[in-house]
Amino acid sequence: MRPRAMATDLKRIYVARSLDEAISEAAFQMQVEELLDLTGWLHHHAHDSRRSDSGLPDLIAVRPPRALFLELKTQRGRLRKGHQPGDIVRRPDGTRRVVRRFEPGQVEWIEALRACPGVETWVFRPSDWPRIVEILNDGRIAVD
Ligand SMILES: [Mg+2]
Repeated sequence: MRPRAMATDLKRIYVARSLDEAISEAAFQMQVEELLDLTGWLHHHAHDSRRSDSGLPDLIAVRPPRALFLELKTQRGRLRKGHQPGDIVRRPDGTRRVVRRFEPGQVEWIEALRACPGVETWVFRPSDWPRIVEILNDGRIAVD
């Protein structure tokens, strides 16, 4: 490869990485939901999760015979573990509460779902985009 072509490729990789790191989870989720629409999935996201138990993956998508649970993360976002009784956690409004029973987090939900045959559970990050297209599209539409 010529040095100039290599420099262009490196620049492209750098720009792509920067974009992946700049995208918010909400913007990434909109992209994924658009792709779910385009590829014919029924999908659901609980918009206000403040009054729900935590940990359930962000999106549920069904296109028989496939059922998917999708956890979306920013490029550097971490999966959260559950809370043990006695832990003190902060509510979205800033107040604190003491955990009374075990509360599963994202890790526990994902591990449990991955142990269920027939259910696909994925953790997607912005840099996974080509793979996400492959997984959701499943050969249904031509994507460049
Ligand atoms: Mg998420």
